[in-house]
Amino acid sequence: MTSDVPPRFAVFSDIHANLPALRRFLESVDAQACEGLYCLGDIVGYGAHPNECCEIVRERGIPAVMGNHDLVALTLEGADSFNEIARQAVRWTHDRLTPQNRAFLENLPYTMAFGDATFVHASPIEPRNWHYVLNQSAALANFEAFDTWLCFIGHSHQPLVVELEGDRIHCPEGREVALRRDRRYLINVGSIGQPRDRDPDSCYVTIDMESGILKFHRLTYPVEEAGRAIEDAGLPPELAYRLTVGL
Ligand code: ZN
Repeated sequence: MTSDVPPRFAVFSDIHANLPALRRFLESVDAQACEGLYCLGDIVGYGAHPNECCEIVRERGIPAVMGNHDLVALTLEGADSFNEIARQAVRWTHDRLTPQNRAFLENLPYTMAFGDATFVHASPIEPRNWHYVLNQSAALANFEAFDTWLCFIGHSHQPLVVELEGDRIHCPEGREVALRRDRRYLINVGSIGQPRDRDPDSCYVTIDMESGILKFHRLTYPVEEAGRAIEDAGLPPELAYRLTVGL
């Protein structure tokens, strides 16, 4: 039997080992009494706190899917496809993951579906090949790869809503979107730990299933603390800098 999503839940992605950002996110969702949290992967990679972030997701029992950085951090297989800075960070992460956290990451599924919602890191088409959904034609093709009302993705670190009406797609804008039952949606929830839409604040979404309201939340968190930890760890300083500008 497939369990359903709760009436009000939050979806977040791409923590990237940013502990100050993850803590701020949890404070925010705990204060709103969300009944469910779903994590779209890339728990590790780039930031200085991979073990702490894995432990929080594990201990809170948050359902999570595999991200490309999580996978590469396990074996370093595929690290050659990363740019130099990401490669340095993933090697650093690989050398530090504890056996328990390695086992946790190894067991993450590539997709999850609960009732009306599918969850995947990059794209419902070939979830193991880490495709980006960056334009309308890519989005249209992806609607054929899931059959739920909603599909949540991360990976690009850029929030986006794509609405399918018949065979036409639109991209509703704004912090709140009223979701309609006669349409379907592909929703990029943005990133908690390394936003890339020129806004350094963490981004996540909440969904109220009764009203159909999807809301993007932005949270200011101690960016300097995350940056200092990156520098103190000997990770590339560019990774600290990009957090301050949201790129
Ligand atoms: Zn990512």
